[in-house]
Amino acid sequence: MLGQTALFPDFTADCTRCAALCCVALHFDKGDAFAFDKPAGTPCPNLAPDSFGCRIHADLMNKGFGGCVKFDCRGAGQRVTQEVFAGITWRDAPDQMRQMIDAFRMMRRLHETLEAIALLQRYPLSPPQSQQLDAFLAELTAPESGWTVSSLTALDASDVFDRFKAALPAFRSAVSRA
Ligand code: SF4
Repeated sequence: MLGQTALFPDFTADCTRCAALCCVALHFDKGDAFAFDKPAGTPCPNLAPDSFGCRIHADLMNKGFGGCVKFDCRGAGQRVTQEVFAGITWRDAPDQMRQMIDAFRMMRRLHETLEAIALLQRYPLSPPQSQQLDAFLAELTAPESGWTVSSLTALDASDVFDRFKAALPAFRSAVSRA
């Protein structure tokens, strides 16, 4: 089995190291979870103008933004900001915002898939199941110099995320054995 510590990133969101990518990248529709419509790629008007903090953070539920409370990027935001863009933000480089949003979408899929693999590894896997997970992990391992927009794009284009999803039913036996 491949070494886990080197392969699994931190899945805990650290907003202090992120440029509020979720508050920019994602769209939301006015309804029970959000108090107004916001298109993808537009900074939320509730974002503080001089930081990446939310001006209504302490009062999100009361103000009608329960969807923000529920959202969890699983550590993708800080990784895109720090690893892929070396701390440069969409405010520093507005021309790179589109790339940052795409990288955030791909990194979220990567983290969700890695987290699912980490969970499956806790179950009593058969040798073929272990080998299959190791093969996925090998594909999902970051390049030595870290992820870039182009390596994430190549990963996304490889269909590995969809292939992993399609393989999930094959692990049901291990989960039911636990
Ligand atoms: S309401 Fe606050 S947490 Fe929600 S998207 Fe806007 S700035 Fe971000």
